[in-house]
Amino acid sequence: MRLSTITNWAYGATVALTLVSGATMLRASSVEEQERAAVSQRATFDQLTATLEEDVYRLSEQARGFVVTGNPSHLIAYRRERAGLRSVEERIAHLKDAGANYAELQALRQGIHWADALMEEQEAALKAAQSGDAQSARAILFGDEYGREMDRVAAQIDRFQYMLDQRTDQAVARATESARLWRTMSEIMLGVTALLFLCVLYFILKQRILRPVVRLSDVVTRLAAQDYDAVPPDMAHVDEIGDMAQAIRIFRENGLERQRLERERDVDHRMRDLLSRLTQRLQGCDDTADLVGVVRRFVPEITPDFPGRLYIYDAHRNAMAQACQWLDPAHSLTEFAPSACWALRRGQTHRPIGEMVDIPCEHLGARDTLQTICIPLTAQGESIGLLYFEEPAGASQAHLERSGTYLEMLAENIGLALSNLRLRDVLRDMAMVDPLTGLPNRRQFDMLFTRLAQEAERNATPLSCLMIDIDHFKRFNDNHGHDAGDAILRAVGGLLNESLREDGHAFRLGGEEFVVLMPGFSLDQAMARAAQIQQRLQSLRVQHDGKPLGPVTASFGLSAFPDHGRADRLIQTADAALLRAKAEGRDRVLVAVVRDAA
Ligand code: GH3
Ligand code: MG
Ligand code: MG
Repeated sequence: MRLSTITNWAYGATVALTLVSGATMLRASSVEEQERAAVSQRATFDQLTATLEEDVYRLSEQARGFVVTGNPSHLIAYRRERAGLRSVEERIAHLKDAGANYAELQALRQGIHWADALMEEQEAALKAAQSGDAQSARAILFGDEYGREMDRVAAQIDRFQYMLDQRTDQAVARATESARLWRTMSEIMLGVTALLFLCVLYFILKQRILRPVVRLSDVVTRLAAQDYDAVPPDMAHVDEIGDMAQAIRIFRENGLERQRLERERDVDHRMRDLLSRLTQRLQGCDDTADLVGVVRRFVPEITPDFPGRLYIYDAHRNAMAQACQWLDPAHSLTEFAPSACWALRRGQTHRPIGEMVDIPCEHLGARDTLQTICIPLTAQGESIGLLYFEEPAGASQAHLERSGTYLEMLAENIGLALSNLRLRDVLRDMAMVDPLTGLPNRRQFDMLFTRLAQEAERNATPLSCLMIDIDHFKRFNDNHGHDAGDAILRAVGGLLNESLREDGHAFRLGGEEFVVLMPGFSLDQAMARAAQIQQRLQSLRVQHDGKPLGPVTASFGLSAFPDHGRADRLIQTADAALLRAKAEGRDRVLVAVVRDAA
């Protein structure tokens, strides 16, 4: 049952009880009125009966006075008073009107009869006295008989009075009892009403004021302690408590909003911190592998609900190849042509929105438009990679927008780092690679040779070194031009590279001189490989400007560790052997001898 219904019922009951209590009080007062009426009736009867008795005695006294004194004034007074007496019926009717009952009236009637009879005797005595028979008159008025009759009248009137007293006493007692009863009832009613009123008051105070106030104060205390799980009770009633609950609800909503903003700010701070660390780490990367490691570690932290992939452009294959992935992306191929991505085609972020009509990228491997984001990584207007993300399902628009900013920042930083690495690679290549043949240059040779020589010495493993010098190279320049000479150098470089593959390392030392290092190769194996190279060189045909340039031959000096002394002296030993090869007529492979190592 609703609180308001209970309260209304209680109000109704209180009002009803108050009315009943009022009626009871009225009733008690009317009974008191009856009591007063009974008392007043009794007074009236007392007065009437007293008059009656008095009349009898006074008449008797007047008659006796006349008989004894013979004074006519007594007679005159007797007559006057006798004439003044009302008739019996009149008196009885008067008493009847005053409320006397039948039995009482009968008793009174008897008394009046006897009083009248007494008056007859008085008349007789008066007549006798007037006629001079004072003796007889006295005998009548002072005789025993007369005295007895007087007593009888008095006794009858006393009886009547006793009956009246009895009845009026009973009436008064009844009225008093009844009045007391009604008064008590009225008081009880009043008490019950007051009790009910107090109960209602207590109920209202507790249910409507105390309890809500306690609950609201509890909620306020928890809200003050930043506990926003505290929900203010729903108090729809329009009063101050309802207003208070509404105000607390608004306060809580404001608090929640503030907390949300603070959380967002914290997340923002964390993200910016992570982004700055990512940038620092990216700047420290030496190669692409380092960069991929950093991306794989940081990106899922910065965008924890966006699975994705990093693609890096492979110029040899003209393809975007996956370098790493995070959080298990569901779509997109691991390698695809740049034209398969709209972001790479347009050079800007491609983000098909679910409800909007758009074209999904081919590399997604899905026909439908998916919630994906492709951000191209560019350097000097050239696409060098791609960041691919999948949007989390059911994320709010605000979250997606905020995350979108981070994704763009990520792409910018990663793109920049990738571009720097590429630039560094180009510069390093320029410093370490011979641009004409593509072979590593002397600097690289020096570095690798030092290391390989140390390893060979330390591990006692074989290491062979083959020095190569093209024969009469100057003639190619002289006869066909410098470009033709370059073509020869390129062709020889390619040949060396192909001949060795994984087995050794070929370098261009400068001019038309090359060197091959073969770690792990014994002298015999190295000799076989040298012969193989010589053969291939002899059969090499180079063309320049559509014209054949004639056969190319070279002289070879071969040295090996441990066969020809110290490993770090292999170059000089091989060089000495090469000089001998030149001297002995060129186009040959000469193995070093101990003399060469000296
Ligand atoms: P030899 O058989 O004794 O080795 O005779 P050679 O002509 O090969 O040796 P020489 O040292 O006399 O001549 C080397 C020439 O190579 C001289 C130089 O002009 C030429 N040369 C050096 N570097 C390059 C280059 O990068 N391109 C071209 N085209 N020629 C170069
Ligand atoms: Mg030379
Ligand atoms: Mg030469």
